[in-house]
Amino acid sequence: MRDKPKLSIVLPVCNEEQSLPQLYLRLAAVLKELGLDYEIIFIDDGSHDASWLELTKLHQTDHRVKVLSFSRNFGHMAALAAGLDQAAGDVVITMDADLQHPPELIPQLLNEWEAGAEVVSTLRQESRRAGYFKNLSARFFYWLLNRIAKINLPANAADFRLLDRKVVETLKTIKERSRFLRGLISWIGYQQAFVAYQAEPRFAGKTKYSFSRMFSFAIDGITAFSAFPLRLATYLGLSIAFFSFIYIVYAIFVKLFTNNAMAGWASVLIVVLFIGGVQLIFLGIIGEYLSRVFDETKGRPFYIVAKKLGW
Ligand code: UDP
Ligand code: MG
Repeated sequence: MRDKPKLSIVLPVCNEEQSLPQLYLRLAAVLKELGLDYEIIFIDDGSHDASWLELTKLHQTDHRVKVLSFSRNFGHMAALAAGLDQAAGDVVITMDADLQHPPELIPQLLNEWEAGAEVVSTLRQESRRAGYFKNLSARFFYWLLNRIAKINLPANAADFRLLDRKVVETLKTIKERSRFLRGLISWIGYQQAFVAYQAEPRFAGKTKYSFSRMFSFAIDGITAFSAFPLRLATYLGLSIAFFSFIYIVYAIFVKLFTNNAMAGWASVLIVVLFIGGVQLIFLGIIGEYLSRVFDETKGRPFYIVAKKLGW
């Protein structure tokens, strides 16, 4: 049994004005029940609605509510990073601000922590509600990532998790910009535990992860943890070279030992287009990696804080 910890709750907020009051009520009820010292850190990730106003109100009613506001939208991962940088608790819990992550699960996460876990991740149990396409694409993505990268991620992992202070300090030393937090959590190791939960539908508003955003998130995940796509060019190049060599031998044979000649136009065009297509795809893949190297070398800050409440 560990000492009574101080708790930090970290919540990224992007246009969640409607959810915030309800979220605070449910969260505060759970935290008061626990009787622990706590802080609630909201990161306003460039909201255009009244989220900042709502957060100011919450801060006025409860001084344990602290707010960071970014100068513009820097993304979910940047907001989580800012929260971890600022959190002072012995235990930090990250969760979404749209009430899809039930605050009532927090005592269970703490139980796992008390039993010795240093990372307690949650596994989403719903699925029907998320939509067929989102589920299928998520499953395919995690299957692919687990195969080509040296990490192991469950497909229904959520960004609702408890982190021990030690783990937070470790994450703070990781300076990568294209931060795929789920992957990093699995990569850093430590004693990990899982808790299943029933995901609720979004309380209000709509998801900030459109298809194109999910797609670039997926590319971030793959490029951050695997160089396999780059190696694929070598494999494919080798096999194309091998088959074309056999084909050349065959063509020479036909020319020398038969009265026929190889039929031309269509097959030449097919080969040219095929090779051209493959080369462009791999230029694109190299470009994805290169642009990330470029981003990292510029060394710009990961996020810019414009306003603070409660610090
Ligand atoms: N979010 C954010 N910045 C963004 C996009 C999302 O801070 O650019 C927050 C959002 O307010 C929510 C959480 O990240 O609290 C998860 O986003 P969302 O619910 O839209 O994702 P989904 O649950 O649909 O995967
Ligand atoms: Mg959500």
